[in-house]
Amino acid sequence: MAALIDGKAIAAKVREQAKEKAAQCAAAGRAPALAVILVGEDPASAVYVKNKAKACEACGVRSLEYRLPADTTERQVLELIADLNADDTVDGILCQLPLPGHIRETAVVNAIVPEKDVDGFHPVNVGRLHLGEDCFVPCTPAGVIRLLEETGVDLCGKRAVVIGRSNIVGKPVASLLTAKNATVTLCHSRTENLPAVTREADVVVVAVGKKHFLTADMVRPGAVVIDVGIHRDETGKLSGDADFDALLPVVSAITPVPGGVGPMTIAMLMENTVKACRAHLRLG
Ligand code: NAD
Repeated sequence: MAALIDGKAIAAKVREQAKEKAAQCAAAGRAPALAVILVGEDPASAVYVKNKAKACEACGVRSLEYRLPADTTERQVLELIADLNADDTVDGILCQLPLPGHIRETAVVNAIVPEKDVDGFHPVNVGRLHLGEDCFVPCTPAGVIRLLEETGVDLCGKRAVVIGRSNIVGKPVASLLTAKNATVTLCHSRTENLPAVTREADVVVVAVGKKHFLTADMVRPGAVVIDVGIHRDETGKLSGDADFDALLPVVSAITPVPGGVGPMTIAMLMENTVKACRAHLRLG
């Protein structure tokens, strides 16, 4: 029977470690502080922002929320970011995406100084990640790797297939797996004969945004599956990009949805915020 990769438990451990390090920051000067900007009324974004504030509280991180109306101009958002960049008591800044159509995401992401870019979306952090240098790693990809590490999956020399090449998930996951010495294939919507590629893999990470996309016939017996997808049906029930029930008897380990990758994202945000603060306070 396959092992369930318990993202809830692993996320709790990451949060606990972040809390300890946050307490060290507080003892050395001040608690870490995270500024979250939310523009407009997107309900899913509002839930994410609320959950981030809750995690901050649990970890001893000071949370600053900036809720701006949907008609806020790009210039006003950039001015707020400039103020937060200059504020010595703020360690991390993130702007919840998506933004209203009149505000350019790239302008906003590029405005946050790389040292406070705890989402890891700034081009400097993206570049450092691909160079294998110390940087802020985007939270969901960092969570995927932590799940594999905590499960004891040996990636060295193994074949890993990532399905999905988005900038926030697929590409950074592929880069991180490469840094772990896996042999990585990055697949996407134009990949020919995808099942033949995925069947070669020891580890499959699926991030396509299509419910139950990864089926049992697409993986070889004993593979490890990490499911990044999140889909909510009319009844509120969550499911992922992998056909979990069908895959369970075939794989050696798999993340459930909910309770797999999902809880890791905010936990890794806490880790990144504490890392920013420690650098800021020169705690090493
Ligand atoms: P995206 O839409 O930006 O990218 C999807 C990728 O899938 C694209 O690169 C596309 O080429 C690929 N794709 C689409 N159809 C395909 C096909 N038929 N065959 C192969 N590849 C195909 O999505 P994203 O932002 O990377 O998110 C992916 C999923 O992960 C979504 O369900 C999203 O909700 C979820 N997600 C979860 C978290 C989390 O915290 N757990 C974070 C981010 C995204």
